[in-house]
Amino acid sequence: MESFANKKVVIMGLGRFGGGIGVTRWLAQQGARVTVTDLADETALAESVERIADLPVELCLGGHDEALLDECALLVKSPAVDRRNSAFFNAAVQRGVPWSSEMNLFLERCPAKIVGITGSAGKSTTTGMVAGILDTASTTDGWAHGRVYVGGNIGASLLQKLDEMRSDDVVVLELSSFQLEDVQPLNFRPSIGLITNLRENHLDRHGDMAAYADAKAQLFQCMTGDDALLLPSDFDEARMPQVATCRAARCTFGIDDDACIRVTGANGREHTIDVTLAIPGRHNLMNAAGAAAIAVRLGVGKDVIAKALQRFTGLPHRLSLVAEIDGVRFYNDSKATSPAAAITSIAAFECKPIVIVGGSDKGGSFAEFGQFLAQHAKAVICIGATAANIAESIVAATSDNSTAHVLMAADLAGAVQLAAKSAAPEDVVLLAPGCPSYDAFQNYEQRGDAFAAAVHALNNAPVS
Ligand code: ADP
Repeated sequence: MESFANKKVVIMGLGRFGGGIGVTRWLAQQGARVTVTDLADETALAESVERIADLPVELCLGGHDEALLDECALLVKSPAVDRRNSAFFNAAVQRGVPWSSEMNLFLERCPAKIVGITGSAGKSTTTGMVAGILDTASTTDGWAHGRVYVGGNIGASLLQKLDEMRSDDVVVLELSSFQLEDVQPLNFRPSIGLITNLRENHLDRHGDMAAYADAKAQLFQCMTGDDALLLPSDFDEARMPQVATCRAARCTFGIDDDACIRVTGANGREHTIDVTLAIPGRHNLMNAAGAAAIAVRLGVGKDVIAKALQRFTGLPHRLSLVAEIDGVRFYNDSKATSPAAAITSIAAFECKPIVIVGGSDKGGSFAEFGQFLAQHAKAVICIGATAANIAESIVAATSDNSTAHVLMAADLAGAVQLAAKSAAPEDVVLLAPGCPSYDAFQNYEQRGDAFAAAVHALNNAPVS
């Protein structure tokens, strides 16, 4: 592999999600002369800049300067950069500067077996479930692989781990369509590839559904008969014609009428796994089915799969079970920052949850949200800048103009206490704000952590 020692490398897009930081650190460690450039300025990127403050790298933030491309040996682009519409990227191509990405640099060097997970929705959850299953499997007798690594779109860069990786390890990667679009120049060939589902998404970037499907299809284009492509049993192949020419073994996953997971292996053998998930929603059962299909392919036993899936309490801040106290289950979906996301979250429950809503104001209407809450929530506790607006929408949608199930709280901790007081055994208390968090928190993670802390505090201060 090429050495980066003393070469000038420009990183285009530091970003806020860890990939830019990871590749900057790794290239600096390889001895490259690194310059980081981003359209966002130093204030917007303060947290990321802080995380690379110890590195000898040059920063050019708040815009891209073409002079940076002079003598540049490699341009590393962020997946957020649209190659078609970036003047800086195209200037680099015109000058003959080679380009890569954090993911491509990793894939070119990764010695381990790769499991790639993509799809329009459910990527992170499925990846988290696979991680949980393989974690359990690796502590069980008979696990035929080495260590398990999880990364890609779900979290921090795995470049730092390359030195310790071996060929019998397993790397589970969540891959976005943006990352997949950029793997095109490589002979990317994961041993196992899974597509959770395919529906319209990111068309502002990809242009149309065909181009979006084309990006996703990079997952399996180079697969051979030794590899496996896993698709949901109801997958509409007309939306992705590339599947027809895929040479990999095909496996399917789905749910049967008894809510059991059904997985078909490459040899056509069917496996049925009966699982009760701690997280709600049919979509999560589908994610569990996908995760189980991957685990079956990796030789994990059905008992281990069922046990690990049952223990999966969700990814942080995405409809995760925080605690069960006196028969009341508390769920955190702080990531539901829009009314549409909060509606999906509430609809995942069979019972009517007590919902905590509200946050900063994006300026949209709450009419539909209010109507949904009026019908599908046992009680609603409103907080934050949008509290009054949401409360009004619920009252307007309530046929008898009753305000009985709309409560106001001064802050999130107060809302949790009020919810606990209003709840009876078997009830669900759900944080699904339907709004961003910036009125009271730095981000949705901080809000979710505050919710979890307030829930755990209930144990120390019993509800009267
Ligand atoms: P992604 O990583 O693809 O964005 P996540 O696992 O983070 O997906 O889930 C994000 C949201 O997508 C969830 O809160 C839920 O509303 C929805 N979702 C998750 N899994 C599925 C699925 N299998 N089918 C449809 N929607 C889903």
